[in-house]
Amino acid sequence: MEIFGFPAGPFQTNCYVATGAVAMDGVDTPCVIIDPGYGAFDVVRAEVEKRGWKPEAILLTHGHIDHIRDVAEAAAHWDIPVMIHEADNFLLATPESGASTFGHLFDMASMSPYTQAEFYADGDEVKWAGLNVEVSHAPGHSPGCVMLRASDGADEVLFSGDVVFNGSVGRTDLPASSPEQMRLSLKNKVLTLPDELMILPGHGPTSTIGDERKNNPFLRNLD
Ligand SMILES: [Zn+2]
Repeated sequence: MEIFGFPAGPFQTNCYVATGAVAMDGVDTPCVIIDPGYGAFDVVRAEVEKRGWKPEAILLTHGHIDHIRDVAEAAAHWDIPVMIHEADNFLLATPESGASTFGHLFDMASMSPYTQAEFYADGDEVKWAGLNVEVSHAPGHSPGCVMLRASDGADEVLFSGDVVFNGSVGRTDLPASSPEQMRLSLKNKVLTLPDELMILPGHGPTSTIGDERKNNPFLRNLD
């Protein structure tokens, strides 16, 4: 699997581009974009052109503005589908509903909402760009948070969105958050994963499930 990631926008939200497709000639290697936030479209476009990659889908971990700001622009540019959990679609289709206090940081005035998303649900497996992507619904930070476990048969990673970070977890004081749902998601969806699984979070540096199990104070005392 090949992945590049970079932080975008005022909240330094990690955007990732991944492929499990073996490139014979380096031309139009299919790839997926995960969470294109503010400014991510320009970076992804330049980087995939340089690499000879061609995005074929946008996969979203959830609908918060810092993760979806450039979705409409990227989807239109490559004419590709967008997938999100249905419970967060309102944030994508009406972004102002989720960012009333800091929308100006994301120049929402010049942003298009995206209303044609396809939905994935807990337990779904979707296949894009040589990757098998297992969807795990892990609500709490937002109602439609998912973690995406992607494998190309050799490597496996977890795009954990804003569920679990290196040393922390997603906040649950936002309008549509639920601390109780978050507790259950961390206990039943995160701590049940294998230690060796690599975490690529929505913010901050990478980790593994084992490191978080050992060191993350928010994963203790969840009963
Ligand atoms: Zn978020």
